[in-house]
Amino acid sequence: MNHIARLAGMSNFLDWRNRMMHAVWRQEESLSEEVLAWMSKTYDEFGEISEDEFLELWTMRTFSMARSAFEVIQESVLDETGKSVTGEEFCYVNYLRDPEFGPVGVVRFKSVEVSTPDWAEVLGVMAEGVQEFVMDYYAMVWPVCGRHAFGLHVDYLHETAVWKCNGGLAGGHVIRAIDPSIPTPQPRLSHG
Ligand SMILES: [Zn+2]
Repeated sequence: MNHIARLAGMSNFLDWRNRMMHAVWRQEESLSEEVLAWMSKTYDEFGEISEDEFLELWTMRTFSMARSAFEVIQESVLDETGKSVTGEEFCYVNYLRDPEFGPVGVVRFKSVEVSTPDWAEVLGVMAEGVQEFVMDYYAMVWPVCGRHAFGLHVDYLHETAVWKCNGGLAGGHVIRAIDPSIPTPQPRLSHG
């Protein structure tokens, strides 16, 4: 491909990406590297798909990530507490698609919801939902810091969802990545 054709290809892609971001009611600044990379991959794979097709892909991906995230987190709860967050009576996760509320599908769990196919965000939101469920249903704080006995909260570090404890001197510390298959991100010690 020559230089001009490459530039034209890039501008077609950016036009398409802008149209798709508009269709899902998002701004570029609000999307993570991961989502932008997925959009680029989708364009490479399927070309200039329509808004409707893109909304469908976006929603399917969000729903599928939410199911995977729920699996990962309920397994952590089971490992750490012996308590179950699954089973018929625990079907609290809702997958909604209603044009009145927006162009893409929404996953709702307890008081939280997510509608962006970003693994860190989906994981963080589902973790908060499960945490709330464990508190309401078992009257139990989960997860807890082994060092300070505080309940942990969801945070994000370098685009990774983590469990963080507010205890300690340095304004809290990261316990681990919420997804156990991801290494715990290390805070950068120096900002130059
Ligand atoms: Zn702690």
